[in-house]
Amino acid sequence: MKLVLFDIDKTLVKSSAGHRAAFSAAFKEIYGIDASIDIIQPSGMTDQQIIFEVLKIKGLDEEKIKSKLDLCMEKMADVFSGMIATAELTILPGVKELLEELKNNGVLIGLVTGNLEPIAQSKMKKLNLDRYFKVGGFGNDHIDRTELVKIAIKKARSKFDFIFSNNVYLFGDAPQDMKAGNEAGIIPIGVTTGIYSKQQLENAGASLVLNDLTDTEEILRYVLN
Ligand SMILES: [Mg+2]
Repeated sequence: MKLVLFDIDKTLVKSSAGHRAAFSAAFKEIYGIDASIDIIQPSGMTDQQIIFEVLKIKGLDEEKIKSKLDLCMEKMADVFSGMIATAELTILPGVKELLEELKNNGVLIGLVTGNLEPIAQSKMKKLNLDRYFKVGGFGNDHIDRTELVKIAIKKARSKFDFIFSNNVYLFGDAPQDMKAGNEAGIIPIGVTTGIYSKQQLENAGASLVLNDLTDTEEILRYVLN
């Protein structure tokens, strides 16, 4: 059995303004801080990393941030669930066809995303993609993306008797996705549908870089080999 994991933002979908607004609302309500995640470059970061980076710039120390981290993540999920109905979300080209074909070929499919799980799930549900994903590692599980990959594999093992042996792939748009894949001992595949170039993804250790996910046949050949 193969396991194919996907990042969400800029890999499966165009990221939504709702997610960004959820950070700002939670920073304000939980920490009393006016801040937007636009003061950093959040691409490829887990939600927990984003929370720490932004609030540190705003002058909060780690202890203070940690003490309210769970509340902050809960607030974000709350705010996002109130916005999901009107949030503009777009599936990137080729994604639906690829997921369908992977499923038809008996591939186990999962998510590895820095998004908090409730946010990730409501994005997938809204786009009617949720039924494809059987396991996942999410932004609330850990701050470090490499750990999220390991968590997704662990879930595959316990829920589906998956045996890990050079048979796990991770699609992502950011160098951090490639690095996490390599550190977790799996095969990272880059897509340049985010802000990063082929060169940047290769430098970060991508085993293959694609312009997008539209060439279903090429991807199936690579993954099913
Ligand atoms: Mg991404």
